[in-house]
Amino acid sequence: MDLGINGKWALVCAASKGLGKGCAAALVREGVHVVITARGDEALQATAAELRALNPAVQVRTVAGDITTAEGRAAALAACPQVDILVNNAGGPPAGDFREWNRDTWIAALDANMLTPIELIKATVDGMAERGFGRVVNITSAAVKAPYEALGLSNGARTGLTGFVAGLARQSRLASRNVTINNLLPGPFDTDRLRSNTAAVAQRAGQGFDALWEQRRLSNPTQRFGRADEFGAACAFLCSVYTGYMTGQNLMLDGGAYPGTF
Ligand code: NAP
Repeated sequence: MDLGINGKWALVCAASKGLGKGCAAALVREGVHVVITARGDEALQATAAELRALNPAVQVRTVAGDITTAEGRAAALAACPQVDILVNNAGGPPAGDFREWNRDTWIAALDANMLTPIELIKATVDGMAERGFGRVVNITSAAVKAPYEALGLSNGARTGLTGFVAGLARQSRLASRNVTINNLLPGPFDTDRLRSNTAAVAQRAGQGFDALWEQRRLSNPTQRFGRADEFGAACAFLCSVYTGYMTGQNLMLDGGAYPGTF
């Protein structure tokens, strides 16, 4: 299926690894030029080389920087001739007990998982509307729909973003100009983030990593973890020309782990 986005420009944040990288790869396969960001330059350059090899016809630009800072966002935006597609992503906040968190802890989580995507949306959607095409995909979490006890910072910050986006996506000045904003909610995907979270939980519980990893794998209806390429394919579809009538939605990718009918 040709998604109809060949030649568009995408800014894919936090994309040297994991889910962001999966999204960048899927877009590059569709002929989309990308700007990818991450803090660490080494992994970023290695990913850029992989993406160029996937599709030598596209431009792949890299911006090393922290997307949760104003400077990091300005550099990412400056590297993209025009943002037709925006994939919002950043690292997830740490697990823990809310009794240990102070205002600074909360502000860091809100900056990364709520305010940074909102700032990037603010910088890009009006231009998208003027050009008559725009796709924003926010990588949030299954925790928005079913909170994880130990991830209160993520539950709170991402739900704040989701509430804001629910209102914005429905504004006629965006929706009627073919600008859509949707959220992808990952359940457990086999990435560095899931492995480090699992290691932290295993350590707290005095359990071995392998045993907990296996337990988590088997607890999913598919008896496996998701793959970044599957996640990327869903993202590319949301960015396609076929989704102009789909906005303000929350799409769970969790192997069926969420037990509700809807
Ligand atoms: P990952 O494999 O650890 O990759 C994270 C990527 O983001 C890396 O490229 C990292 O590079 C970059 N990054 C992190 N913080 C950044 C920042 N401040 N500025 C720029 N780049 C940054 O993580 P993932 O599993 O793909 O997770 C992506 C998001 O989905 C996270 O918010 C995570 O909490 C959420 N999520 C993941 C899962 C899952 O099962 N994997 C489930 C639910 C939600 P640098 O470190 O070099 O910056």
